[in-house]
Amino acid sequence: MEASLFAQSHIFAQPTYVTGKPIAHVAREFGLDPSKIDKLASNENPLGPSPKALVAARVALEEMNLYPDGSVYDLTGKVAERLQIGREQLVFGNGSNEVLELVAKVFLGPGTEAVMGVNGFAIYKLVTLLMGAKPVEVAMPGFKNDLVAMRAAVTSRTRVVFVASPNNPTGPDNSESELIAFARSLPENVLLVLDEAYAEFLEKAPDLRPLIQEGLAVLCARTFSKIYGLAGLRAGYAYTRADIAGLLQRARQPFNLNSIAQAAALAALDDVDFVTATRQANVAGLAQVGQGLRALGLEVVPSQANFLMFHIGNAQAAFQYLQARGTIVRPVGGLPAYLRVSIGTQAQNDRFLIHLKSYLEQKIS
Ligand SMILES: *Cc1c(COP(=O)(O)O)cnc(C)c1O
Repeated sequence: MEASLFAQSHIFAQPTYVTGKPIAHVAREFGLDPSKIDKLASNENPLGPSPKALVAARVALEEMNLYPDGSVYDLTGKVAERLQIGREQLVFGNGSNEVLELVAKVFLGPGTEAVMGVNGFAIYKLVTLLMGAKPVEVAMPGFKNDLVAMRAAVTSRTRVVFVASPNNPTGPDNSESELIAFARSLPENVLLVLDEAYAEFLEKAPDLRPLIQEGLAVLCARTFSKIYGLAGLRAGYAYTRADIAGLLQRARQPFNLNSIAQAAALAALDDVDFVTATRQANVAGLAQVGQGLRALGLEVVPSQANFLMFHIGNAQAAFQYLQARGTIVRPVGGLPAYLRVSIGTQAQNDRFLIHLKSYLEQKIS
């Protein structure tokens, strides 16, 4: 019998996440040398992984016959100390994507709603639909989360509101005062999820810890995938009220954070030089790519994160053209006239801008 006949019906309406294209796929498809391809599609760290994390990961490999520490003891202790919060306020995940899924598992189900920006991070909608709940998508003027409109979209069925600041894929962030006012305005049975995947790239990230300590239903999600350069290992976490963290703990697998990721993340937190170098390279790269795009006459959406979204017209055509020349960027779901480019090294950014310039020139001639 066909499996679809005995599967849960909501799975047929479940969209699948489209990832940035791996270098190996593009190399195969276009007959290119993989070492000559620049992947500027997934907001990865162009400087590589944190060197300290790499050393720790190699050591941890020697013990991969053993199960990981299911309690994530050392990493929990270090992050708790850094954030000046209790251990019981932390939950780790296989990437912060898993944390977002745990939120959905705990708070969403049929008959409930989750509010999110229409150009918000794609995972919010996917985890909401997967739990049989309804995504309520709110317009984003200027591609920024409109917190007033999001508050107005909250109903008695709302359990979660998802806000990424800076927002991926668009770029703009919300100020600390805006976020605090928004958190205070929400009913006490609605969880505010603040996705801080790019917070470390901001000059000064909003701090909602005082609200959490005060008892508001706020959960902040962080990742080791971006500034720490550990996307391939899958490590992220949430800090939140202890009762909320406790509920998420119930929903996770016992060994969701593998031992290599635990060791590498622990070391990465101490790699201050690497984080500083990444931040500096990103500031320079944002200026380089932003100026380059504007010099080509393109409209660029403001961003302090490690990517820029820009208007290109026929994004698929530009995406294909760039890809065939070895630069992988990212089409943006729901915005067919825009592309998102991750900030790379200076040389990668240069190559991207050169290819884009030739794309625009051949389009005119
Ligand atoms: C990259 C990203 C994440 C992090 O995902 P991981 O699962 O930790 O790799 C989370 N949220 C947003 C908005 C992101 O862009």
